[in-house]
Amino acid sequence: MNKTIKSKIKEIVGNNNFFDSNEDRLSYSFDATPLYQQLPEAVVFPENKEEISKIVELANAEKFNLVPRGAGTGLSGGSIPVENSIVLVMTKWNNILEIDTANHTATVQPGVVTGTLQNEVEKLGLFYPPDPGSSSVCTIGGNVANNAGGLRGLKYGVTKNYVMGTEMILPNGKLLKTGGKNLKDVAGYNLKDFIVGSEGTLGILTKVVLKLIPKPKSFTTIIAFFDKMIDCLNADFSIIISFVTPAMMEFLDKTTLNCVEEYANLGLPKNAEGVLLIELDGRGEEVKEDTEIIKRIFTHNNASVIKIADTLTESSKLKAARRSAFSALARVKPTTILEDATVPRAEFPLLLEKVQQAAKDYDLLFGNFGHAGDGNLHPTCLTDERNNSEIEKAHKAFDFIFNETIKLGGTITGEHGTGLAKKDFLVNVAGIPGVEMMKKIKSVIDENNILNPGKIFSNSPRCEGTLPFNKNQIRPFNG
Ligand SMILES: Cc1cc2nc3c(=O)[nH]c(=O)nc-3n(C[C@H](O)[C@H](O)[C@H](O)COP(=O)(O)OP(=O)(O)OC[C@H]3O[C@@H](n4cnc5c(N)ncnc54)[C@H](O)[C@@H]3O)c2cc1C
Repeated sequence: MNKTIKSKIKEIVGNNNFFDSNEDRLSYSFDATPLYQQLPEAVVFPENKEEISKIVELANAEKFNLVPRGAGTGLSGGSIPVENSIVLVMTKWNNILEIDTANHTATVQPGVVTGTLQNEVEKLGLFYPPDPGSSSVCTIGGNVANNAGGLRGLKYGVTKNYVMGTEMILPNGKLLKTGGKNLKDVAGYNLKDFIVGSEGTLGILTKVVLKLIPKPKSFTTIIAFFDKMIDCLNADFSIIISFVTPAMMEFLDKTTLNCVEEYANLGLPKNAEGVLLIELDGRGEEVKEDTEIIKRIFTHNNASVIKIADTLTESSKLKAARRSAFSALARVKPTTILEDATVPRAEFPLLLEKVQQAAKDYDLLFGNFGHAGDGNLHPTCLTDERNNSEIEKAHKAFDFIFNETIKLGGTITGEHGTGLAKKDFLVNVAGIPGVEMMKKIKSVIDENNILNPGKIFSNSPRCEGTLPFNKNQIRPFNG
């Protein structure tokens, strides 16, 4: 990018909000996704909508690319710069503009940290359920762009279930508003839901209206350890068919448990093969009743240890085991490839079996944890990107895992997004007509392809040929 263009950008955002030293560019060349990195031309922190619109107009005129970015915790490479790009960091847009206790809504800027919003609304007796494991750092803008899930997805759903309205600058520089505070609104196409999950490719979010619900009156957190994996998975399945709906139902395998214990010293029994962490919430009586059912299921399925917490401190301690899973696994080897395979929830045990098979066949170390209640497993390969042959094996293992996931009726990503990491696999779940429709939409909204190009859509899809999607026609990813 030539100096004249950079000067024009600097004129728009001011010297204090423009960074292009090697150190600054390096700091924004990656996110939490391993194996991907690219230097941007510069990094800017726009302060108002006019500045964003002007940058967008300049990008169209001078043909450079823009990559919106929140906290950079994404796990599919969505905020990693692309060629000839400027990173637009939205973390300064961190004001909670309004908490409307009458309408149960929060209106926020996109850079508000998810955990901060949760804490603020809870002070008023309200509740914002989406709870990604990264909630202490990730932003609402990143959550909306990725349609983030999290630990409470089973009972409460994901980000899209709480987005009521959006405001964004389109790739042509114009401001688009969708939705608002109305609980019901069917005027025209549902553009709001279409924007959620668009991964920074259709516009730059500047405001979001979120639905809040009353804070549950009471809760219990229960953790159970199983000496045999089969018992753990049977307990998981028994809970699903018991019609109890926990707010949280999380799973950890032995590798993950051991890493967590070594990292956080929580006093957990390290010999367990499988762990289930449950949170029940709601009205007191209901929680008590459900706690008894869960305890019975755990005992019946030979849990070796069951711990129950009903104070906030004890509960946080139990949940720390799950929340620290990723960080704990990341200490084992230099490269942590965390994936996001998702199947219909009853197929979760079969998915886990396939991951174990891949680990064995390719002689790789995997830790497994995830949102068991949602059928969303995070198979995590602990490897070293300097070891080419091991990385090649890891790719083959994940090809196998995704192939098997789709055969089980699942999808390549339940919550992390397609971004760079999954784009080659998209056609396997969306089918050729689906991908074509998405590409057409992108080309109409972003005529010059300036906004986060190269994400979601692949130039070399792993599955070619004639799909509409049919499980039996899927070719192996590495074929
Ligand atoms: C330890 C850890 C645990 C995690 N746990 C979970 C989990 O439980 N569930 C889950 O779903 N994810 C999880 N994630 C992934 C990640 O935190 C989420 O995807 C999150 O939504 C990303 O938010 P962010 O602010 O970091 O966005 P970024 O990573 O900065 O960006 C993500 C995407 O959003 C776009 N974007 C950001 N801001 C804007 C904006 N203002 N306008 C338009 N586009 C924008 C970017 O271009 C990019 O495509 C985890 C990550 C880590 C590191």
